[in-house]
Amino acid sequence: MTVCTLCERKDAVFGRRYSGEKLCGICFCKTIEDKVRKTISKYEMLGPKDRIMVAVSGGKDSVTLLHILTKIEKAFPEVILSAGTVDEGIRDYRDEALRIAERNCRKLGVEHVVTSFKELFGYELDEIVELVRRRGEKGLTPCSYCGVLRRKALNTMAREAGVDKLVTAHSLDDETQTMLLNIVHGDPLRIARSKPVLTVIHPKLVQRVKPLCQMPEKEVAFYAYLKGIEFQCIPCPYAQTALRNDIRSMLNSMEHKHAGTLYTIFSSMERIRPALESYAEEVKLQNCKLCGEPTVGDLCKPCQMLQELRVL
Ligand code: SF4
Ligand code: ZN
Ligand code: ZN
Repeated sequence: MTVCTLCERKDAVFGRRYSGEKLCGICFCKTIEDKVRKTISKYEMLGPKDRIMVAVSGGKDSVTLLHILTKIEKAFPEVILSAGTVDEGIRDYRDEALRIAERNCRKLGVEHVVTSFKELFGYELDEIVELVRRRGEKGLTPCSYCGVLRRKALNTMAREAGVDKLVTAHSLDDETQTMLLNIVHGDPLRIARSKPVLTVIHPKLVQRVKPLCQMPEKEVAFYAYLKGIEFQCIPCPYAQTALRNDIRSMLNSMEHKHAGTLYTIFSSMERIRPALESYAEEVKLQNCKLCGEPTVGDLCKPCQMLQELRVL
């Protein structure tokens, strides 16, 4: 057995290939918590008196982040931490996730707020997918509808709960995938907008922060395993339609062959971003003519989508 590089006493259970460290369970968990703390302080993500809502889907990353933040924020008694879940309406998937999210919140003593597509938009995601299928139109993918509607739902839920920060569990893997997706979609300037701390450009938008942006998904999973955290394991039934899956496989295979690739892409992105920001035009937002939410055009993207489905 190899001995832990940090405490030099216990047996190592995790090898961090990109740094060469071999860690025991206790030291591994400590490095994960320290790294989240460092990321929060490096990007000035959270303040000592913030009202914080963690977007919890019930999946591994968000539930684990909720556990880590609950621990970290204990040092800040004036912080108010809550969790928020959006029920998109995906049968045999989100219902289980909701129960898992609820159980974790109860265990941690964190208030849990839930909203749904049905409540906010009048339709579940399953109903939208069925509508598109029945019409035989070559519509958008379920993930395109889901992503756009969930973004709005999360913001509405956080704003109505009166929080200062909306915390999302985007990992290092998610961030690098998103960067490549933006390039594949021919929209490189979006890289300027996809930051660890999003700039607030309208009073109706709640600031989003991503404390796991430098954390490999594999390490989040191992932390959850060591801590015995309950999370949802089954994938979303619509997930296979996502182009993101191909990009994920490609990046995973590169990371496997060349440890540290994800970090290199992330830090390159950090270095490129200021140049892109100065090149990208400043976005001016107005209120959507239908729902009043901030948008660049006359109608916000969710209203446009729902109108195209002729359900508005
Ligand atoms: Fe929504 Fe697609 Fe994620 Fe499923 S995989 S929850 S449809 S974005
Ligand atoms: Zn150790
Ligand atoms: Zn709208």
